[in-house]
Amino acid sequence: MGTVSRMTADLDRATVALARRIAELGTGKESKVFHLSWWSEKMLDWAMARPAFKTQLFRFVDVFPAMTDDADVARHIDEYFEGHDVPTALRAGIGLADRVPLGARVEANVARRNIERMARQFIVGRSGAEAVEGLRQLWDAGSAYTVDLLGEKTVVPSEADRYAGRVHELVSTLADAAATWPASPDGVLEHDDLGPLPRVNVSIKPTALAPHLAPLTRELGLDEAKERLRPILRLARERGAFVYFDMEHYDVKSLSLDLFRGLLEEDEFADLEAGIVVQAYLRDSRDDLADLIAWSAQRPRPITVRLVKGAYWDAETVHARAEGWPVPVFEHKDETDANYERCVRLLHDHHGEVRAAFASHNLRSVAYAVTYARYRGIPDTGYEIQMLYGMAEPMHAAIRSLGLRLRIYAPVGELVPGMAYLVRRLLENTSNESFVRHRFAEGRDLKVLLEAPRIDQVPGPTEPVRRPPTVVDDEDGAGEAGGPPGVTPYEPEPVSEWRRESERAEFAVAVEHVASDLGGDVPALIDGEWVHTSATIPSVDPSAPGTLVASSASCGVDEARWAVEVAVRVAEGWRRTPAAERAAVLFRAAEWLRFRRGPIAALQCFEAGKPWDQADGDVCEAIDFCEYYGREVLRLDGASAELVQSPPGESNRLGYQGKGVAVVIAPWNFPLAIPTGMTAAALVAGNPVILKPAEQTPAVARYLVEALVAGGAPRGVIQFLPGDGEVVGAALVEHPDVAVIAFTGSRAVGLSIIQQAAVARPGQRHVKRVVAEMGGKNALIIDADADPDQAVPAAAYSAFGFAGQKCSAASRLIVLDAVYDQIVERLVGCTRELVVGHPRSAAVQVGPLIDEDAHKRVLRWVERAPSMGTVRLQSEDIPEQGFFVGPTIVEVADPAAPIARDEIFGPVLTVLRARDLDEALALANDTDYALTAGIFSRSPAAIRRAAAELRAGNVYVNRHITGAIVGRQPFGGYGLSGVGSKAGGPDYLHQFLDPRVVTENTLRQGFAPD
Ligand SMILES: Cc1cc2nc3c(=O)[nH]c(=O)nc-3n(C[C@H](O)[C@H](O)[C@H](O)COP(=O)(O)OP(=O)(O)OC[C@H]3O[C@@H](n4cnc5c(N)ncnc54)[C@H](O)[C@@H]3O)c2cc1C
Repeated sequence: MGTVSRMTADLDRATVALARRIAELGTGKESKVFHLSWWSEKMLDWAMARPAFKTQLFRFVDVFPAMTDDADVARHIDEYFEGHDVPTALRAGIGLADRVPLGARVEANVARRNIERMARQFIVGRSGAEAVEGLRQLWDAGSAYTVDLLGEKTVVPSEADRYAGRVHELVSTLADAAATWPASPDGVLEHDDLGPLPRVNVSIKPTALAPHLAPLTRELGLDEAKERLRPILRLARERGAFVYFDMEHYDVKSLSLDLFRGLLEEDEFADLEAGIVVQAYLRDSRDDLADLIAWSAQRPRPITVRLVKGAYWDAETVHARAEGWPVPVFEHKDETDANYERCVRLLHDHHGEVRAAFASHNLRSVAYAVTYARYRGIPDTGYEIQMLYGMAEPMHAAIRSLGLRLRIYAPVGELVPGMAYLVRRLLENTSNESFVRHRFAEGRDLKVLLEAPRIDQVPGPTEPVRRPPTVVDDEDGAGEAGGPPGVTPYEPEPVSEWRRESERAEFAVAVEHVASDLGGDVPALIDGEWVHTSATIPSVDPSAPGTLVASSASCGVDEARWAVEVAVRVAEGWRRTPAAERAAVLFRAAEWLRFRRGPIAALQCFEAGKPWDQADGDVCEAIDFCEYYGREVLRLDGASAELVQSPPGESNRLGYQGKGVAVVIAPWNFPLAIPTGMTAAALVAGNPVILKPAEQTPAVARYLVEALVAGGAPRGVIQFLPGDGEVVGAALVEHPDVAVIAFTGSRAVGLSIIQQAAVARPGQRHVKRVVAEMGGKNALIIDADADPDQAVPAAAYSAFGFAGQKCSAASRLIVLDAVYDQIVERLVGCTRELVVGHPRSAAVQVGPLIDEDAHKRVLRWVERAPSMGTVRLQSEDIPEQGFFVGPTIVEVADPAAPIARDEIFGPVLTVLRARDLDEALALANDTDYALTAGIFSRSPAAIRRAAAELRAGNVYVNRHITGAIVGRQPFGGYGLSGVGSKAGGPDYLHQFLDPRVVTENTLRQGFAPD
């Protein structure tokens, strides 16, 4: 055995021995989590054995604070647990409300008492004063503490102010109180080998300090958070208090590190006592830790690092997988554990340059930290162990009795803001991978629990990988599971992971590059040739209308006729081109676009006024359409023949063929995605396409045409006619040789196209098919028990994202009376904070309106708003030049007011009050349109009703109502919203195809093939 492995084996033996000793010392003491009231214990036991019940229970706990009275509690119990396998303790309650006069009261009381007790177990006090009492008890029992103020999610600045104010006050209260406490008996709580340790210790959450603390608004968020933190840090310095920066979701990890380092680099805080958390479940945590240590070593006073595994494992995993990003956390528990031990070593190896705190309830992890310190000759008081209030308590006593310093993380606050914390703790304690569960609930064998993590090497950080291009494999007729023949299954293109600095930096470069290269020409493409016209149409930057983005061709009736003639010429050849070849054109076009994602999205910031994330999303959606419809045509081509019966003696084959010349008339608001969706579908179905882009965004649309040409679309199969819609658009629609018209745009134009297309003109031998996606006046309902932390930002995003210029945007918010005032006030505060400006800046969330007409039209609505309701917000913090309108919120009493009925297509949101869900649904459905709608509710019954009754093509529950993803939320409406079937869904391609059945009598002279 080599020296290193001998050392490892020795360390391991000593770790296991110490862990056993800690376990022994803790034996006989009760672990509170699993010794709750009889009721709670039954619930948790049941939950651990039944994942479906666990989901319902935790959801119920989550919604509990929003319930208004006993009847409400009883109703929710019924809704959540009816039909579930539930413990007797709960079954006694279900259904009781209806049958027994006091039923509601009995079960509601039991639930209320038990949930409150469960929450209280993890909370040291409701107020600062109450907490002082609890903390004093901890101190007297020999534990130090760090206090965490429980807070709601910060959505508006006043909430951040309140949080900062409460922390400030808490530091004062604690400093006053702690000054009177007796010295800790052996000084272990007040000194380590590097010097004195403050008695007062608080932990703060960076996101509670600034609503803008998010990847794209990072500078703003950092400034705001620093502004609020400085007075706290000053007070901490004056009163000798210690401040920890907790670590939250991965989205804000680098922001939290920057915040911490930025502040501590300021002169006045150069020798401040402060610490930060490193989460060992992150694959890049060791690198972060090494950086922090190197930085700490330069400071006059070392910082402290609290090493944890990390509290958001499920959320990080689900989020990254849904987005198609690399998962930032380890995916095997042993890897997290091994990394934890690796980080323990790094911290102890740099003892003195950094102070270390090890926060864990895992006996092995704690014992390892102690054992390795001893191996390095670090005194037992040279670092500390930290644990959570109310969790794994047998270990608390054992750690103290070993003479180690134990610090208890003690949350303070009310039940309502504490609920998220409670749910996190319940999740942690009942997780399949939890040491606490294994040890204290299941009593698993220590020998197994204390084994060293079984891995050879800890995997390093991951980088995003570009998707490989899709290739149709003609040889492989089978296809992968779930996919059509010969290609991999469809997956949406991952949007940019803005939390990565590299992705932000790359896009910033693209934006500046585009800015320096505006003003180019956008010719037409007819019969494979780029064609300039004598007249041109300028497209300007709507944020700076003096800036020309591009000059496009201005095609007229002649170009329209010419293009149709060419299309007719190539139609038959393209129709007969095998589906696999047509699909391959789209796959190659997707790859071409993928390669140029940054520049195309950056151009949208100028030509369409789209903020970064929306522009990026638009290009991803365009790629998705190509990938999706390519597979769709293969699916239809492969499977359709089998869909009809063939009796003995007869062969029936169903097939599809292109309808003929297709015209696509596209809007500007999704300047690449929507033209791509319509064009790709028509084209891959076997129709030559003439694309007329929006006058406002020809330069972006040109990229699509280039992509298709580069992808191998034969000459004449894709043609491009920029021009005035009323001229070239009308000429195309009326042309007798056009078979399909795909349109997305306003209701007025859509209806007129349908009318025009209905006329059979001389020479026309078909009925024209019109696929029209039109407007919406979309409603979003906020129920009385909705989570306001979720609902308010989502409502603001749905209404004001891209300045409300989406047909899917929320334009009517319907709020239940019980929460109306509170929701509207928060919404106004949240909306006021939206950053309005030129989208070339990363932080901008609301860009300009598309052009002068739109600007004037929306301003007229805003001017008339006071006559139709109460204007609660008209943001005035907007740039002077450009077509900007500040986000506007208008409360409307009369649902028939035009502002609550007409589509405005701008950042104007009307808010309506509803007595109850019946009225809310009636209001939501009282519209000509039926495009999108949504509800925020935590009532399963209300969600079921809304899902069934909301009149909309796309109904969203507990999320924003825009941003449909191809293949996931096929998109499109009915009513006066449209006549097409869903874009990005399995029915869409049929609209561009004529189905044909060939029936062959296979019986010859009584002989039939098998
Ligand atoms: C004093 C204190 C302060 C804390 N502060 C923070 C903080 O600021 N930020 C924060 O995020 N957390 C914080 N925590 C919470 C902490 O992250 C959890 O309590 C901790 O992760 C539980 O780990 P453990 O070592 O006690 O238990 P174990 O049961 O050994 O580990 C459970 C942990 O392993 C990880 N894990 C679970 N499943 C997997 C898997 N399949 N693959 C890989 N890893 C997995 C998760 O991190 C999970 O929490 C703090 C905890 C304490 C005690």
